[in-house]
Amino acid sequence: MAILVTGGAGYIGSHTLLYLKEKKEDVIVLDSLQTGHRDAVIHGTFYEGHLSDRGLLDKIFTSHKVSSVIHFAADSLVGESVKNPLKYYENNVLATYQLVNKMVEHGVKKLVFSSTAATYGEPTSIPITEELPTLPTNPYGETKLAIEKMLKWADQAYGLKSISLRYFNAAGADPEGRIGEDHNPESHLIPIVLQAALGQREHVSIFGDDYPTDDGTCVRDYIHVLDLAQAHYLALQRLEKKEESGIYNLGNGNGFSVKQVIETCRAVTGVEIKAISSPRRTGDPAVLIASSERARSELGWSPVYPQLDQIVQHAWYWHKHNPTGYNR
Ligand code: UDP
Repeated sequence: MAILVTGGAGYIGSHTLLYLKEKKEDVIVLDSLQTGHRDAVIHGTFYEGHLSDRGLLDKIFTSHKVSSVIHFAADSLVGESVKNPLKYYENNVLATYQLVNKMVEHGVKKLVFSSTAATYGEPTSIPITEELPTLPTNPYGETKLAIEKMLKWADQAYGLKSISLRYFNAAGADPEGRIGEDHNPESHLIPIVLQAALGQREHVSIFGDDYPTDDGTCVRDYIHVLDLAQAHYLALQRLEKKEESGIYNLGNGNGFSVKQVIETCRAVTGVEIKAISSPRRTGDPAVLIASSERARSELGWSPVYPQLDQIVQHAWYWHKHNPTGYNR
């Protein structure tokens, strides 16, 4: 039996493929390569295509014995989602509808879904537990929440069991440097700071230094991408055993400010990275820190790389050896 991984050429998807390879799982990968990289797919049978291609989904589900799906394929830029929300409704909600519809048609009843802390919006308390209200402040979070709700009703109506994983700030890379993070444009803090360390950027802009935090900059919970990968595998195992849907936060439960992240990058790289205070970025909550107690107790999840300096070291190894990403 095989696992279908949509979006397997993306950052978190490709690291999950690596993890599944180590677990000797049979994998089918579907990715449009619009934002993903073919070279990042280091395991599995690869299909290039969109979730909107119903014929392709039929072909995959009929020519392979697919037992379950891990669904990463999505658009994930918050700023872009505000400017072009319909693109997000099409590529996230509608595309997932197509996938779920085909899963029901072909009798595939287990799904692990790539969700996000953006479903909470501005949290009412810290650390964030899964019970907190979900009030997204942008279309990206809104479309991910809409999918979680679609999955809840699909369970009730068709018995399709799903686990939604709400990631906090994914970071780091394969410690051996085979794959890593490569977004274009890059918008995430750690790769941007490392690009500055490589001299590819003149400086890093700190988006806001007047937040109600210790040093005035935003605090986030950074989680190693391979620890996220581990959680997807455990979620699949739970679906096999328990046949029960659920929602889980994934973070280390430790917050680091933007200034602390830049300091850590300076220490790891040995480069005096220039940082400049800039205006706040719209829609950034001051503090996002996860409670992942539920994932630990119910999935048996235990992060292997919880230290920020280790996360940055692995990211740095990748960026230093692949300064132009997969375009090498
Ligand atoms: N950030 C920043 N400068 C940058 C990119 C990000 O100050 O060039 C800040 C951003 O405002 C947020 C934190 O770094 O507080 C993490 O941002 P990122 O985009 O990596 O992840 P997000 O928290 O938006 O998911």
